[in-house]
Amino acid sequence: MENKYDYEYDKFREAGKASFEALTYAKELVKPGKKLIDTANELEKFMKDKGFGLAFPVNISINENAAHYTPTVNDESVFTNNDLVKIDLGARKDTYLQDCAVTIDLSGKYANFVDTAQKALQEAISSVKAGRKVCEIGAAVEKVVKGAGLKPIENLGGHGISEEDLHADIFIPNYDNGDDTALEEGQVVALEPFVTNGAGHVIEGEHLQIYQKLGNVNARSEDTRRISEFIDKNYSTYPFAVRWLVNAFGSEFKVRRGLNELAALGALESFPVLVEKGKGIVAQAEASVIVQKDGCEVLTK
Ligand code: MN
Ligand code: MN
Repeated sequence: MENKYDYEYDKFREAGKASFEALTYAKELVKPGKKLIDTANELEKFMKDKGFGLAFPVNISINENAAHYTPTVNDESVFTNNDLVKIDLGARKDTYLQDCAVTIDLSGKYANFVDTAQKALQEAISSVKAGRKVCEIGAAVEKVVKGAGLKPIENLGGHGISEEDLHADIFIPNYDNGDDTALEEGQVVALEPFVTNGAGHVIEGEHLQIYQKLGNVNARSEDTRRISEFIDKNYSTYPFAVRWLVNAFGSEFKVRRGLNELAALGALESFPVLVEKGKGIVAQAEASVIVQKDGCEVLTK
């Protein structure tokens, strides 16, 4: 493929396949009574055992939680038969990241949400090609979602994926936001419709378990310096979970204190849980693709 992007596409493909296999495995794991923490650990182990890194911690967001819930180290919560469960994950091959998600309905009540998110994703995939404006993809998603009597979430959407960067330059809305930025041949993007019966907007909640290191700083405390070096060595600038650090350092208090110091120094980006503003139920579907001249290649398959 001739294009301006200088990617090793086979690494994207390998990571995409492993990510999709993990999503398929998630459908077996997610059952009423199962602990969220066990599910996250098993999915992360699944990708690591295949020889991949993690693009970010496995997200398990339920009902009105739209994204960015990952369990704490001692998380006692279990899936129930009232849950609409979003599993969002990605494998990493060297610097090549992937991102995909599926929604699992344990309640039997939310088939319309799951089907609509999936149909909207298929519509977005069909719409992708070089030169396509992102607002046109958004319009296609919006039409499917509103046609099903639901709302798209307006402040969540798809994004570019470049080497080492899960959220690169381009934003792909889930409604017609008028942005006429065009997709480019060879670009890798994630498409991710979110649908809800709530306000159509997410806000930040309390639960904060995912961070990303931004740069180097001189922390005063010895503990914080050790934590900082551990993050650099093991997670580089990829998002990580607090529970990973607690497993390595033993003390949640020590880890929290270190992360607070790094955050105060401006060395961390934080990703709190994103909650539907009207407490609506949320479903999501996500795939990563390579933009081609006349269409796209789905990577997470
Ligand atoms: Mn994404
Ligand atoms: Mn995702």
